[in-house]
Amino acid sequence: MLSAEQIINYQAPSDCLKDRIILITGAGDGIGKAAALACAQAGASIILAGRTVAKLEQVYDQIIDAELAEPTIYPINLEGAVADDYDTLAVNIDQQFGRLDGLLHNAGVLGQRTPLSHYRQDVWDKVLQVNLTAPFQMTQALMPILEKSGDASVVFTSSGVGRTSRAFWGAYAVSKFAIEGMVQTWAAELDELGSVRVNAINPGATATDMRAQAFPAEDPQGLKYPAAIMSAYLYLLGPDSKTVNGESINAQTR
Ligand code: NAP
Repeated sequence: MLSAEQIINYQAPSDCLKDRIILITGAGDGIGKAAALACAQAGASIILAGRTVAKLEQVYDQIIDAELAEPTIYPINLEGAVADDYDTLAVNIDQQFGRLDGLLHNAGVLGQRTPLSHYRQDVWDKVLQVNLTAPFQMTQALMPILEKSGDASVVFTSSGVGRTSRAFWGAYAVSKFAIEGMVQTWAAELDELGSVRVNAINPGATATDMRAQAFPAEDPQGLKYPAAIMSAYLYLLGPDSKTVNGESINAQTR
């Protein structure tokens, strides 16, 4: 495995994702959008999953305009989705592609920035549903078609507050701690298999709508933009990380 610094500075070989089928959740905005564009640029066929179709269509158009492999739009609201929806997703991907080579669980919600003693139950439920339960259920349903790949990579999105919590980060921090733990469990269970690896990525402070929601007074000019943190994503989704399993890596030093 590369060192932490080498991963952040990783220069993905062009076409490193050639002919790979990669599903990205929350692909219409922020880091997910940048990941969809970067992975398409590296040769992958992207399944753009998300809840706002107009945003997914914009990403679709950008990929087509760049004359890259035609992506697929898959509308899904992770807040309301149930096991049957993920089974349907698996059937659709299997019928269209016959396998899945990459799964980037990127979609997430921040919830409230408030003390736990005042945290609303409905917000708690929503944050854990979107950030934790949905990626768990989706991974479970897609595992058979990931196994068909022979070299599949599942990447869950963590956060700095998923490793060391801070006051007022509520359900968001709890969901990211749980993601870190779930990655270790999946990785241990799949280690023998050797064909599906599972890792976590912490994007670090990145100029997106979520970051602005969390730090409204911050000047985004001082942050990296999503397109500038893609090295670690390409590393984890590409063949150079084939033996990396159960790790939690950083996409930038911050
Ligand atoms: P963002 O700009 O707010 O984008 C979040 C994405 O998730 C959007 O595409 C959004 O779709 C989608 N999403 C939210 N709720 C959804 C639902 N119910 N169903 C389907 N899709 C849903 O956030 P971001 O900063 O790019 O965050 C991406 C990931 O990185 C998140 O997991 C976040 O926790 C993590 N992260 C970000 C930072 C940072 O500094 N930005 C730091 C650490 C970790 P819509 O556009 O339709 O709302």
